[in-house]
Amino acid sequence: MALIVQKFGGTSVADTQKILAAARKAIRERRAGNQVVMVVSAMGKQTDHLIELAHELSEHPNTREMDMLLSTGEQVTIALMAIALESLGYKAVSFTGAQIGIRTDATYSRARIRSISTDRMKRALDEGKIVIAAGFQGIDDDFNITTLGRGGSDTTAVALAAALQADRCDIYTDVDGVYTTDPRVVPEARRVERISYDEMLELASMGAGVMHSRSIEFAKKFGVLVHVRSSFSDNPGTVIGPNPERADAPVCGAALAKDETRVSVYGVPDKPGVAMKLFSRLADAKIPTDMIAQSSSAAGKTDVSFTVQSDDAYKAKEVVENIVGEIGAESYDIDEKVAKISIVGLGMLHQTGVAQKLFHALSECGVNIIMIATSDIKISALVNRDDAVKALRAAHSAFQLDVEPTKEELEASDGVNATVANFDHAVSARLISHLAGMEDVVVESIDLDEGQARVTLYSLPDVPGLAATVFDRVAEGRVIVDMIVQSSGRDNLANITFTIPRDELEAVVAVADRLCETYGCNSEFDARAAKLTVRGSGLRSHTGLAFRMFRTLGEGNVNVSVISLSERCAAVIVDEAHGKSGRENLIKEFSEETF
Ligand code: ADP
Ligand code: ASP
Ligand code: MG
Repeated sequence: MALIVQKFGGTSVADTQKILAAARKAIRERRAGNQVVMVVSAMGKQTDHLIELAHELSEHPNTREMDMLLSTGEQVTIALMAIALESLGYKAVSFTGAQIGIRTDATYSRARIRSISTDRMKRALDEGKIVIAAGFQGIDDDFNITTLGRGGSDTTAVALAAALQADRCDIYTDVDGVYTTDPRVVPEARRVERISYDEMLELASMGAGVMHSRSIEFAKKFGVLVHVRSSFSDNPGTVIGPNPERADAPVCGAALAKDETRVSVYGVPDKPGVAMKLFSRLADAKIPTDMIAQSSSAAGKTDVSFTVQSDDAYKAKEVVENIVGEIGAESYDIDEKVAKISIVGLGMLHQTGVAQKLFHALSECGVNIIMIATSDIKISALVNRDDAVKALRAAHSAFQLDVEPTKEELEASDGVNATVANFDHAVSARLISHLAGMEDVVVESIDLDEGQARVTLYSLPDVPGLAATVFDRVAEGRVIVDMIVQSSGRDNLANITFTIPRDELEAVVAVADRLCETYGCNSEFDARAAKLTVRGSGLRSHTGLAFRMFRTLGEGNVNVSVISLSERCAAVIVDEAHGKSGRENLIKEFSEETF
């Protein structure tokens, strides 16, 4: 007998007919002799509706009361689903998050799961009942109701599948799988047959709303096989598992985060630890940052830019306003009309010219890039919000994401054609007992690459096509570029920093000299750069982790010149002389998380 977790999103339970249809999907599994746990969301747009009600009363409603309010949406659905199942002749029981014992921390509106007690669910399953669990909610140590963040029912479902060691976790939604990008925005998007955990995690984190990114952290960590499929058809769907669809393609998908905000703090004193104070405050306020760029402006001063989701802009502004005086920065500004497009693919690890191709695609459609940030399997570009869809489309078509792979291409990256979960029961039991909280981050490795050089071009004119031109020139010298950061500073001038293998520096110096002649910009080179990388999953969204990395390096007096954050790695460029000690300090700092 297999144990299946089925999750139904809002549209899939939007009215009683749809609830009945979902109930029949559970019954089908039950009749096949399987045990079934259903996880359901609030009906239709109920969560949005409840948020609107609260906002009619207050601009910034109390977060505890918001969680109390929003959890009611899911409570309605679980009861209706149980009634529907019983009306069809099947035994069922509904449980709220508290009743199942989903224990979370006390961070209202984005609580993280600490533990799940499976006893009550197992008893009900053994009695032959279909268990219906409320998605998106839990309870903290003081019995306050908490919620996991918008879209959090996916996370409940995968977390339950992990805790119960389910054979499968089926996510039923209003699309028939994961697409190369949001098919509502780009109709040419194509459903992928499978996608790797790492790729799905980055895509979800960068805005692919089909899955809550934290659910993929669970899936990867505990080996849960996730199957995304349609509530309204029997189409095959997409398997999220260990393997990519195609190992040879540089990009597997593109994502759009439409509501982003850029924050720049100007004239920050350039001393170790000062900029880190800013990031520590943001981490304390649990605000995830992305696309961090810092660049020297005048002597002894740097400008720091980063992006946050617009939902966090209000809190981020409060933090920045308070800290500007405290750290002696000159000023700050906030641009709330930007959007981020990202391309993701494991194939990027082995292919060159991927970023350059993206910059070209954006340049050809006249889109100006405000910021660039890259990490090992993802490249993000910040653009004006009005340009976002155009930019996403251009990226999608530049990498031919609409083209179906051939049978041979699919077979070439066939690892396991798994249809059930890949649990190593011993490993997941050890993991659960090792971690203080189920959602705690796991660090896989801490690496040092000593052979790097850093190049910075200052005060370039901030015009469309700039990045394309710069990296065309660099590519002419056959140089393999690793990290890239671009930020727009004051006065319509941009800075671009990138890293290269050290033995290529001479060729790049010549290229940079020519670029400086053309653009009247300045350049700076660091021939003794080293890159420190922490690998794991969930590294960007676990806000405290990157900060601990910066703080640990800061305490060792290590100056960080480039920062790159993604869910699967947090990397920084430091002076080579500090590489080894930096790595040792990081290993000590993350010993608890390293598994
Ligand atoms: P649910 O309520 O079932 O959780 P969501 O609205 O959260 O559904 O997620 C499904 C939606 O995600 C789709 O309707 C689609 O518009 C959007 N989406 C965004 N990116 C993607 C993608 N890469 N593949 C499929 N759907 C996507
Ligand atoms: N109902 C919640 C939301 O709309 C959780 C979910 O649907 O996943 O965000
Ligand atoms: Mg969802």
